[in-house]
Amino acid sequence: MTEGISLSGLGKRFALRKNPVTALENVDLHTEKGAFLSLLGPSGCGKSTVLRILAGLDEPTTGTALVHGETPLELRKHHHLGIAFQDSALLPWRSVATNIRLPLEVAGLKPEPGLIDELIQLVGLGGFEKAKPAQLSGGMRQRVSIARALVVQPRVLLLDEPFGALDDMTRQRLNLELLRIWTERPATTLMVTHGISEAIFLSDVVAVLSPRPGHVLEVVEIDLPRPRTPEMMRTPEFHALHDHISELLFTARTAS
Ligand code: ADP
Ligand code: MG
Repeated sequence: MTEGISLSGLGKRFALRKNPVTALENVDLHTEKGAFLSLLGPSGCGKSTVLRILAGLDEPTTGTALVHGETPLELRKHHHLGIAFQDSALLPWRSVATNIRLPLEVAGLKPEPGLIDELIQLVGLGGFEKAKPAQLSGGMRQRVSIARALVVQPRVLLLDEPFGALDDMTRQRLNLELLRIWTERPATTLMVTHGISEAIFLSDVVAVLSPRPGHVLEVVEIDLPRPRTPEMMRTPEFHALHDHISELLFTARTAS
Protein backbone atom coordinates (compact mmCIF):
# COMPACT_ATOMS: atom_id res chain seq x y z
CA MET A 1 0.00 0.00 0.00
CA THR A 2 1.31 3.44 -0.95
CA GLU A 3 0.78 6.06 1.67
CA GLY A 4 -1.74 8.82 0.99
CA ILE A 5 -2.65 11.13 3.85
CA SER A 6 -0.92 10.32 7.11
CA LEU A 7 -1.78 12.15 10.33
CA SER A 8 0.02 10.88 13.41
CA GLY A 9 -0.64 12.11 16.94
CA LEU A 10 -1.76 15.41 15.49
CA GLY A 11 -2.64 18.08 18.05
CA LYS A 12 -3.35 21.78 17.79
CA ARG A 13 -3.68 24.27 20.59
CA PHE A 14 -4.45 27.92 19.91
CA ALA A 15 -2.75 29.92 22.63
CA LEU A 16 -5.02 32.92 22.89
CA ARG A 17 -4.15 35.14 25.84
CA LYS A 18 -7.22 34.48 27.97
CA ASN A 19 -8.80 31.41 26.47
CA PRO A 20 -6.44 28.83 25.07
CA VAL A 21 -8.35 26.43 22.80
CA THR A 22 -7.33 22.86 22.16
CA ALA A 23 -8.77 22.29 18.70
CA LEU A 24 -7.28 18.86 17.98
CA GLU A 25 -5.94 16.13 20.22
CA ASN A 26 -4.09 13.07 19.06
CA VAL A 27 -5.62 12.73 15.62
CA ASP A 28 -4.47 9.57 13.85
CA LEU A 29 -5.63 8.96 10.33
CA HIS A 30 -4.07 7.14 7.39
CA THR A 31 -5.30 6.67 3.83
CA GLU A 32 -3.94 5.14 0.67
CA LYS A 33 -2.57 7.14 -2.22
CA GLY A 34 -5.39 8.27 -4.49
CA ALA A 35 -8.12 7.72 -1.89
CA PHE A 36 -10.99 10.15 -1.33
CA LEU A 37 -11.30 10.88 2.39
CA SER A 38 -14.10 12.90 3.96
CA LEU A 39 -14.02 14.45 7.43
CA LEU A 40 -17.31 14.72 9.28
CA GLY A 41 -17.81 16.13 12.75
CA PRO A 42 -19.69 18.71 14.80
CA SER A 43 -19.08 22.37 14.12
CA GLY A 44 -15.90 23.64 15.80
CA CYS A 45 -14.32 20.21 16.23
CA GLY A 46 -11.24 21.14 14.23
CA LYS A 47 -12.00 19.92 10.69
CA SER A 48 -10.78 23.10 9.00
CA THR A 49 -7.76 23.08 11.29
CA VAL A 50 -6.77 19.64 9.94
CA LEU A 51 -7.11 20.95 6.42
CA ARG A 52 -5.16 24.12 7.17
CA ILE A 53 -2.35 22.07 8.67
CA LEU A 54 -2.22 19.87 5.56
CA ALA A 55 -2.19 23.00 3.41
CA GLY A 56 0.76 24.37 5.36
CA LEU A 57 -1.31 27.35 6.54
CA ASP A 58 -1.10 26.33 10.20
CA GLU A 59 1.49 24.46 12.26
CA PRO A 60 0.51 21.51 14.43
CA THR A 61 1.37 21.76 18.15
CA THR A 62 2.12 18.04 18.30
CA GLY A 63 2.44 15.20 15.84
CA THR A 64 2.98 15.11 12.10
CA ALA A 65 1.01 15.52 8.90
CA LEU A 66 2.33 14.01 5.67
CA VAL A 67 0.90 13.34 2.24
CA HIS A 68 2.72 10.86 0.00
CA GLY A 69 5.53 11.09 2.56
CA GLU A 70 5.93 14.85 2.01
CA THR A 71 5.42 17.61 4.57
CA PRO A 72 2.89 20.35 3.79
CA LEU A 73 5.72 22.76 3.00
CA GLU A 74 7.29 20.31 0.56
CA LEU A 75 3.90 19.74 -1.07
CA ARG A 76 3.47 23.46 -1.54
CA LYS A 77 6.98 23.96 -2.82
CA HIS A 78 6.46 21.26 -5.44
CA HIS A 79 3.00 22.65 -6.37
CA HIS A 80 1.36 19.35 -5.53
CA LEU A 81 -1.53 20.94 -3.63
CA GLY A 82 -4.91 22.16 -4.87
CA ILE A 83 -7.20 23.86 -2.39
CA ALA A 84 -10.82 25.06 -2.51
CA PHE A 85 -12.79 26.59 0.34
CA GLN A 86 -16.47 27.18 1.04
CA ASP A 87 -16.09 30.79 0.03
CA SER A 88 -14.83 30.70 -3.54
CA ALA A 89 -12.55 33.70 -2.79
CA LEU A 90 -12.30 34.76 -6.42
CA LEU A 91 -10.77 38.10 -7.32
CA PRO A 92 -13.74 40.22 -8.46
CA TRP A 93 -11.83 42.18 -11.10
CA ARG A 94 -10.52 39.07 -12.82
CA SER A 95 -12.34 36.93 -15.37
CA VAL A 96 -13.11 33.23 -14.95
CA ALA A 97 -10.06 32.31 -17.05
CA THR A 98 -7.65 34.64 -15.26
CA ASN A 99 -8.93 33.62 -11.81
CA ILE A 100 -8.28 30.00 -12.72
CA ARG A 101 -4.77 30.90 -13.91
CA LEU A 102 -3.88 32.79 -10.73
CA PRO A 103 -2.11 30.01 -8.74
CA LEU A 104 0.24 29.44 -11.68
CA GLU A 105 1.05 33.15 -11.87
CA VAL A 106 1.74 33.23 -8.15
CA ALA A 107 4.07 30.25 -8.59
CA GLY A 108 5.76 31.95 -11.54
CA LEU A 109 4.66 29.18 -13.92
CA LYS A 110 3.07 29.29 -17.37
CA PRO A 111 0.00 27.17 -18.12
CA GLU A 112 0.49 24.44 -20.68
CA PRO A 113 -1.26 25.46 -23.91
CA GLY A 114 -4.93 24.54 -23.72
CA LEU A 115 -4.93 23.74 -20.01
CA ILE A 116 -7.13 26.65 -18.91
CA ASP A 117 -9.69 25.93 -21.64
CA GLU A 118 -9.66 22.27 -20.77
CA LEU A 119 -10.35 23.03 -17.10
CA ILE A 120 -13.15 25.45 -18.00
CA GLN A 121 -14.77 22.67 -20.04
CA LEU A 122 -14.11 20.14 -17.28
CA VAL A 123 -16.07 22.17 -14.72
CA GLY A 124 -18.82 22.96 -17.22
CA LEU A 125 -18.19 26.67 -17.68
CA GLY A 126 -17.64 26.75 -21.46
CA GLY A 127 -18.70 30.17 -22.79
CA PHE A 128 -18.04 31.95 -19.47
CA GLU A 129 -14.27 32.38 -19.92
CA LYS A 130 -14.49 36.17 -19.87
CA ALA A 131 -17.25 36.55 -17.26
CA LYS A 132 -16.47 38.26 -13.95
CA PRO A 133 -17.40 36.59 -10.62
CA ALA A 134 -20.27 39.05 -10.05
CA GLN A 135 -21.92 37.76 -13.22
CA LEU A 136 -21.91 34.15 -11.99
CA SER A 137 -24.21 32.19 -9.68
CA GLY A 138 -22.86 30.79 -6.39
CA GLY A 139 -22.59 27.32 -7.93
CA MET A 140 -20.69 28.66 -10.92
CA ARG A 141 -18.27 30.50 -8.66
CA GLN A 142 -17.56 27.24 -6.82
CA ARG A 143 -16.90 25.57 -10.18
CA VAL A 144 -14.32 28.27 -10.89
CA SER A 145 -12.79 27.66 -7.50
CA ILE A 146 -12.53 23.90 -8.22
CA ALA A 147 -10.93 24.59 -11.61
CA ARG A 148 -8.48 26.97 -9.94
CA ALA A 149 -7.59 24.24 -7.42
CA LEU A 150 -6.87 21.90 -10.33
CA VAL A 151 -4.74 24.31 -12.36
CA VAL A 152 -1.45 23.22 -10.80
CA GLN A 153 -2.45 19.63 -11.71
CA PRO A 154 -2.24 18.70 -8.04
CA ARG A 155 -1.62 15.26 -6.65
CA VAL A 156 -3.39 16.31 -3.47
CA LEU A 157 -6.77 18.02 -3.32
CA LEU A 158 -8.03 19.74 -0.15
CA LEU A 159 -11.69 20.82 -0.15
CA ASP A 160 -13.25 22.64 2.81
CA GLU A 161 -17.05 22.45 2.50
CA PRO A 162 -16.73 23.44 -1.16
CA PHE A 163 -20.50 23.47 -1.72
CA GLY A 164 -21.52 24.24 1.87
CA ALA A 165 -23.08 27.61 1.10
CA LEU A 166 -25.20 26.40 -1.82
CA ASP A 167 -28.81 25.21 -1.92
CA ASP A 168 -29.50 21.47 -1.80
CA MET A 169 -30.26 20.97 -5.47
CA THR A 170 -27.16 22.80 -6.67
CA ARG A 171 -25.10 21.00 -4.12
CA GLN A 172 -26.28 17.56 -5.23
CA ARG A 173 -25.57 18.42 -8.83
CA LEU A 174 -22.10 19.69 -8.00
CA ASN A 175 -21.34 16.58 -5.97
CA LEU A 176 -22.02 14.53 -9.08
CA GLU A 177 -19.77 16.87 -11.04
CA LEU A 178 -17.06 16.59 -8.41
CA LEU A 179 -17.23 12.81 -8.64
CA ARG A 180 -16.79 12.99 -12.40
CA ILE A 181 -13.94 15.51 -12.13
CA TRP A 182 -12.16 13.48 -9.47
CA THR A 183 -12.50 10.35 -11.63
CA GLU A 184 -10.99 12.16 -14.62
CA ARG A 185 -8.25 13.83 -12.55
CA PRO A 186 -7.42 11.42 -9.75
CA ALA A 187 -5.81 12.94 -6.67
CA THR A 188 -5.41 12.01 -3.03
CA THR A 189 -8.30 14.00 -1.57
CA LEU A 190 -9.46 15.32 1.77
CA MET A 191 -12.91 16.89 1.84
CA VAL A 192 -14.44 18.54 4.89
CA THR A 193 -18.23 18.44 4.80
CA HIS A 194 -21.43 18.57 6.83
CA GLY A 195 -23.30 16.28 4.48
CA ILE A 196 -23.39 12.62 5.49
CA SER A 197 -24.85 11.50 2.15
CA GLU A 198 -22.32 13.36 0.06
CA ALA A 199 -19.48 12.08 2.22
CA ILE A 200 -20.59 8.48 1.67
CA PHE A 201 -21.37 9.00 -2.00
CA LEU A 202 -17.96 10.44 -2.85
CA SER A 203 -15.55 8.78 -0.45
CA ASP A 204 -13.45 5.70 -0.02
CA VAL A 205 -13.09 6.51 3.66
CA VAL A 206 -15.17 8.68 6.01
CA ALA A 207 -13.56 9.77 9.28
CA VAL A 208 -15.93 10.93 12.01
CA LEU A 209 -14.42 13.37 14.49
CA SER A 210 -15.50 13.96 18.09
CA PRO A 211 -16.49 17.38 19.47
CA ARG A 212 -13.54 19.62 20.39
CA PRO A 213 -10.85 18.71 21.04
CA GLY A 214 -11.33 16.75 17.86
CA HIS A 215 -10.05 13.23 17.59
CA VAL A 216 -11.02 10.37 15.31
CA LEU A 217 -14.08 8.56 16.67
CA GLU A 218 -14.26 6.08 13.84
CA VAL A 219 -12.92 5.48 10.38
CA VAL A 220 -15.69 4.12 8.18
CA GLU A 221 -14.61 2.35 5.00
CA ILE A 222 -17.07 2.97 2.18
CA ASP A 223 -17.01 -0.27 0.25
CA LEU A 224 -19.59 0.72 -2.35
CA PRO A 225 -18.31 -0.14 -5.84
CA ARG A 226 -17.03 2.43 -8.34
CA PRO A 227 -18.11 3.96 -10.60
CA ARG A 228 -20.65 5.38 -8.15
CA THR A 229 -24.10 6.28 -9.42
CA PRO A 230 -26.89 8.32 -7.79
CA GLU A 231 -29.05 5.16 -7.69
CA MET A 232 -26.64 3.73 -5.12
CA MET A 233 -27.95 6.31 -2.66
CA ARG A 234 -31.17 4.32 -2.50
CA THR A 235 -29.62 0.95 -1.70
CA PRO A 236 -29.81 -0.77 1.71
CA GLU A 237 -25.99 -0.66 1.91
CA PHE A 238 -26.03 3.12 1.55
CA HIS A 239 -28.78 3.51 4.13
CA ALA A 240 -26.91 1.28 6.58
CA LEU A 241 -23.77 3.41 6.24
CA HIS A 242 -25.85 6.58 6.62
CA ASP A 243 -27.54 5.29 9.79
CA HIS A 244 -24.25 4.21 11.29
CA ILE A 245 -22.54 7.55 10.67
CA SER A 246 -25.60 9.57 11.84
CA GLU A 247 -25.56 7.63 15.05
CA LEU A 248 -21.84 8.27 15.58
CA LEU A 249 -22.38 11.99 15.05
CA PHE A 250 -25.45 12.06 17.27
CA THR A 251 -23.73 10.21 20.09
CA ALA A 252 -20.73 12.50 19.71
CA ARG A 253 -22.94 15.57 20.07
CA THR A 254 -24.96 14.37 23.03
CA ALA A 255 -21.86 13.15 24.87
CA SER A 256 -20.37 16.65 24.87
P1 ADP B 1 -14.49 23.19 12.20
O1 ADP B 1 -13.93 23.44 10.85
O2 ADP B 1 -14.61 21.74 12.55
O3 ADP B 1 -15.83 23.87 12.40
P2 ADP B 1 -12.19 24.73 13.11
O4 ADP B 1 -11.04 23.87 12.73
O5 ADP B 1 -12.47 25.90 12.25
O6 ADP B 1 -13.50 23.82 13.29
O7 ADP B 1 -11.97 25.28 14.60
C1 ADP B 1 -11.73 24.43 15.71
C2 ADP B 1 -11.60 25.26 16.96
O8 ADP B 1 -10.41 26.01 16.93
C3 ADP B 1 -12.74 26.27 17.15
O9 ADP B 1 -13.04 26.33 18.51
C4 ADP B 1 -12.14 27.56 16.66
O10 ADP B 1 -12.73 28.64 17.31
C5 ADP B 1 -10.68 27.39 17.06
N1 ADP B 1 -9.80 28.13 16.14
C6 ADP B 1 -9.64 27.89 14.81
N2 ADP B 1 -8.72 28.73 14.26
C7 ADP B 1 -8.30 29.51 15.29
C8 ADP B 1 -7.35 30.58 15.38
N3 ADP B 1 -6.65 30.99 14.32
N4 ADP B 1 -7.17 31.17 16.60
C9 ADP B 1 -7.87 30.73 17.66
N5 ADP B 1 -8.76 29.73 17.65
C10 ADP B 1 -8.98 29.13 16.47
MG1 MG C 1 -14.62 24.51 9.19
